Amino acid sequence: MKKPILLAALIAALSFSAVGSPAVLAKSTETAHNQWDHKFEQIVSKRINVDNIYNNIDYLSKTPRVAGTESENKAVEFINSQFKKYGYKTEIQEFKFIGYTPPDTVELSVDGFSGDLHPGAFTFSVNGDVSGALVNAGLGKKDELQNLDLTGKVAFIKRGEIPFAEKVLNAAEKGAVGVVIYNNVDGPLNGTLGTANDKYVPAVSLSKSEGESLASLLNNGQTLTAALTIAGAESGERTSHNVIATKPPTSKKKSTNEIIVLGAHHDSVAGAPGANDDASGTAMTLELARVLKSIPTDTEIRFITFGAEEEGLLGSRHYVNNLPEDQLNRIVANFNLDMVGSKDAGDLIMLTLDGKPNLVTELAQASSTRFNGQPTPYAQGGRSDHVAFAEVGIPAALFIHDPVEPWYHTPDDTIDKISKEKLQDVAEIVSAAIYDRAKYDIKWPKPKKSKKQKAEELYYEQSIK
Ligand SMILES: [Zn+2]
Repeated sequence: MKKPILLAALIAALSFSAVGSPAVLAKSTETAHNQWDHKFEQIVSKRINVDNIYNNIDYLSKTPRVAGTESENKAVEFINSQFKKYGYKTEIQEFKFIGYTPPDTVELSVDGFSGDLHPGAFTFSVNGDVSGALVNAGLGKKDELQNLDLTGKVAFIKRGEIPFAEKVLNAAEKGAVGVVIYNNVDGPLNGTLGTANDKYVPAVSLSKSEGESLASLLNNGQTLTAALTIAGAESGERTSHNVIATKPPTSKKKSTNEIIVLGAHHDSVAGAPGANDDASGTAMTLELARVLKSIPTDTEIRFITFGAEEEGLLGSRHYVNNLPEDQLNRIVANFNLDMVGSKDAGDLIMLTLDGKPNLVTELAQASSTRFNGQPTPYAQGGRSDHVAFAEVGIPAALFIHDPVEPWYHTPDDTIDKISKEKLQDVAEIVSAAIYDRAKYDIKWPKPKKSKKQKAEELYYEQSIK
């Protein structure tokens, strides 16, 4: 039986000498082919150098990489230069958005209360220096405020049921000069008002225990006066970037015309160096670009790092919304790597927007079974860049460890929490899954397009209400 010449040539090119034995190849064309493929797939995975991923995470996570800031620009430059070093043509796609610089001063003092308060600001909280009687305004719903005169007062509102922004706007409409919102679960409240709005009044957050202390005083009929100050916050137009490296099919003649997108987001939240979220996915995208560069494929592969994911999936949505129709139709899969290396997170899972399997989960379940003896499970989940692709009907899945680590979105999301074993595992599964579809071979049946899907919320529910 004839050796598949192409694969033999590839293996030679990779200077791998132990080619499959003729006995194995003789079984049947189909099995032989599969075994060749899987042998080759292992060669692909052996090229992964986990130290490259680790070192690039280390480099990227020296500082937070908030979208629209100088540190994002530096990350973009680095990513672009790495792609180029591997021999890729790249494109830096620029886009504008309304961003927010958090305040440098957030103060709250309450006359008549002796305890300590640690107020926080919401994202998009406006500056101001206001004071007034603190008035219990329940959950801040419109019907609760109907018979309440908040003119010149500070509304005291409990978290729950409606978004923070709605609470602030409802109170402002009734004349409140400021808003204090306290948590209904333990821990500090790190919320967002979602977007900038001129109608907001200064709003600060308190923990549940702080809020309950104040609530019990108010309920006992005590008069409290609150003074709150927010200074240094700023919202305005910012520029963020997507970095795109393209691997065209090896031969135009043999091309399947399909495109696979492998992506991650390079931005982080303010205050978090984002080693796992998502320098891990960014560095893995770079390494897989390096590994796959010289591998012949009949499918185009695009390696993309997105900006402004943390601002509401802005980079990926910008990318998808600006693709020509013809390219949208040719993208058959989006692999989204977001938080793929934390020691302190749970097991690998794939999340699809509708919770159903698709081409991405099928390919990765097959490759994970070959590597680990069992398929990586999938479940329903949004909240990352795969959403932008799923929304236009492209099979897409997020690779993440579940549950997420305790350092998520904190200053402790640092390099020392990164596991090389986890990085290696995800990189193997994803590179093999992509290779399986993109390898130089037969024409695949066109994959089922997913139904166009609608993402319910831009942000984590816990951030907006
Ligand atoms: Zn992320």
